[in-house]
Amino acid sequence: MALKESEAIVLRTYPLRESDLLVTLFTRLEGKVKGVARAAMKSRRRFGGALEPLTYVRAFYDDRERQELARLDSCEVIESPMATEVSYARATALAHIAELLDELMPDREASDAVFRLSLAVLQELRGQAVWMPLTYFELWMTRLMGFLPEFSECVICGRALDGSRAFYHALADGLVCADDKRIASSELSPESRKIAAQMLRSRVSEFAEIDWPKAVGKDLRKFLLQVLERHLEKKLVTARMLEKM
Ligand SMILES: [Zn+2]
Repeated sequence: MALKESEAIVLRTYPLRESDLLVTLFTRLEGKVKGVARAAMKSRRRFGGALEPLTYVRAFYDDRERQELARLDSCEVIESPMATEVSYARATALAHIAELLDELMPDREASDAVFRLSLAVLQELRGQAVWMPLTYFELWMTRLMGFLPEFSECVICGRALDGSRAFYHALADGLVCADDKRIASSELSPESRKIAAQMLRSRVSEFAEIDWPKAVGKDLRKFLLQVLERHLEKKLVTARMLEKM
């Protein structure tokens, strides 16, 4: 069978028997693909450094009959996140991107929009600033998955929320006005709603020069992660790690 060739982002690897690795790739060609890299621990020639998570690679693989896992033949590094210093903050941010892609993307379903988003955000994560690229990634993944609610009106009464306070709840979809908010709701500030609107019509690189401490868009990220976790029906490990940073 002919080898398939695709740009890909390495999401995860697990050791498997002796020197093999189980690798999850997010490929441009056909989305998430799981495969076995035989003797990957030994063969520097076929995989040298290319299987670190979040490495942007050119992957060569093939499918074997009646087998769920592909056979990963080789990978060439296009760009490695290890090329610049990996601080704890940056490593956690990269792990968060990998976890979101792994959890949200179905197997073997290509999405060029998600692939391009991932590459653009990884580009911004080469520096030490993490909160802006993470906010952008979470927002756009929520939108591209079809989970992002309308920000401009209350989902219950339909009143316009522009210029007034907006609230959300961990167990309910969408934003509501002050009159319709439930007990234990959180507020999504007008500033963060404005940031979201700007991010939805701009490229991530356009925010690169802005100073962006953790406090900026914090309520927006909390809101987005609640939406994503509600749809996934599970807690994201890296979300807890980011919270503590
Ligand atoms: Zn309302």
